Amino acid sequence: MANNIQAIRGMHDVLPDQTPLWQTAEKIIRDVLSGYGYSEIRLPIVEKTELFKRSIGEVTDIVEKEMYTFDDRNGDSLTLRPEGTAGCLRACLEHGLLHNQVHRLWYYGPMYRHERPQKGRYRQFIQLGVETYGMSAPDIDAELILLMDRLWKRLGIRDKVSLQLNSLGTIAERLVYRDSLVSYFQQHLDKLDEDSLRRLNTNPLRILDTKNPAMKEVVANAPELMAYLGEESVQHFKAITTVLDNIGIGYEINTRLVRGLDYYSKTVFEWVTTELGSQGTVCAGGRYDGLIEQLGGKPNHAVGFAMGMERLLALMETLNIPVASTVDVYLIRVGEQAEQQGTYFAEAIRNQIDGIKLQVDCVGGSFKSQFKKADKSGATYALILGDDEVSRGEVSIKALRDAQQEQQVLSQAAAIEFLQARVCR
Ligand code: ATP
Ligand code: MG
Repeated sequence: MANNIQAIRGMHDVLPDQTPLWQTAEKIIRDVLSGYGYSEIRLPIVEKTELFKRSIGEVTDIVEKEMYTFDDRNGDSLTLRPEGTAGCLRACLEHGLLHNQVHRLWYYGPMYRHERPQKGRYRQFIQLGVETYGMSAPDIDAELILLMDRLWKRLGIRDKVSLQLNSLGTIAERLVYRDSLVSYFQQHLDKLDEDSLRRLNTNPLRILDTKNPAMKEVVANAPELMAYLGEESVQHFKAITTVLDNIGIGYEINTRLVRGLDYYSKTVFEWVTTELGSQGTVCAGGRYDGLIEQLGGKPNHAVGFAMGMERLLALMETLNIPVASTVDVYLIRVGEQAEQQGTYFAEAIRNQIDGIKLQVDCVGGSFKSQFKKADKSGATYALILGDDEVSRGEVSIKALRDAQQEQQVLSQAAAIEFLQARVCR
C-alpha cells in the first residue's frame, strides 16, 4: 500500500467520529450569531492575488510567506484565501452593500496558509469570520466582545479563554508612535532578530508581535502606543472598557498587542488560552476603518474578528460534551420477507415521524449480530422484523438503553405511534 495517495501535509480530514463535535459547535455558533441579528454571507475560496496584497499588506507573514498563490490557465494570479476579511469586503463593495448601509455579517469555511504544521497550526483550517460595516461608535466594538463572551459560555469554554485588549489609535497617531518606536529599536539593534531588522523600516509595529522569546525584554521595554493616542481614540477605548466593566467581563490591556495585519485602527483584541501551547490565540480581531478606502470604497467603518475552529475544538475536546447520537432507531431485518418489507416499513416510519433518525441494517446476519450493531449505533430503540412478524403485520421493539423496559410486540401502526410519542420530542 506504499503507493496510496495521502492528504496534503497540514490539511486534515475530519472523520465521522469527530463531526458530531463540529456540528454541536457550529449550531451553537449560528444560534449565538442570530441572537445578535447577524446574517451569513458565502464567499469564494479563491480570489485575485492582488486583493490580499492590497488589503493584508505586503509586509506581513501572510503575504510574505504563507499564501497559496498560482497562475490559472489564463495566466491570472490567484490565491487560496488566507483569511476572509478581504474577500468579504470585496464582495460588499462589488455588490454595493456599503452605501449608506449597516451590516452585520458572518462566514464560515476553510482558509489556507503555507505554515509549518503543528498542533493548532495547519495549512487548511476553518475560520468563523464576523464582520460589521457602517458603524463608528464603540458600541459595536463592545457588542462583538459581548457576543464572543456569550459564545464561550454556550460552548462551555469560558474559563479557558481570556480577553486581551488594546487600541492602535488612528493612522496619524500611529505614525508619530512609529517614529519613536523606530528610534528606540535603533538603539537596540543588537537585540533584534533577522525578521525584526527587516521590519524596522517596513512595518516596525509588527516587531511588537514577535514570537521570539529572545526578544521579549527589548519588546517589553519599548515605548507604549497607549501614550500616543489622541482624545477621541482614548474616549473610544474607554467606552468599550466601561461596557465590559459594567457587564462584568474581565480583560487585560496588552499594549504590545498589534495583530498581524496592517489594516487595524483603534480597537484590537485577542481571546487567548494557556492550554494550546504557543498556538494560544483562539480568536482575534478589531476595528479596520481604513481598509474600505484602501480597497477603493468611500470612507466607512468596519469592525470584525476571526476565530480558528480547530483551536476552539481542541479546547472543547477536553470537556467531554455529550453529543447527540446520529441514530434514534435501528431496524433489524432477518429473513427474505423481512428484508423486503423492512425497507418499505422504514420509509413509512420516516414519512410519519419528521426528523426521525432511523438506520436500516443493510448487511444482515443473525438477530444476535444485528443486535450488536444496533447497540453500537447509539440508537435508543431497536425494531426487530422477522418473517413471522411480517406475516402478522407486526414488529418487535426493544429499548436499548433501558434494561427495565421489556421487549414488546406491536402492530406496525402501533409501533409508529409508540416511536412518535418517544422520539424527536
Ligand atoms: P497566529 O499568531 O497564531 O499565527 P494569526 O495572527 O496569524 O495567528 P489571524 O490571521 O488573526 O491569526 O487568524 C484568526 C484566527 O485563526 C487565529 O486566532 C487562529 O485561531 C486561527 N488561525 C490562524 N492561522 C491558523 C493556522 N495556520 N491553523 C489553524 N488556525 C489558524
Ligand atoms: Mg499567523
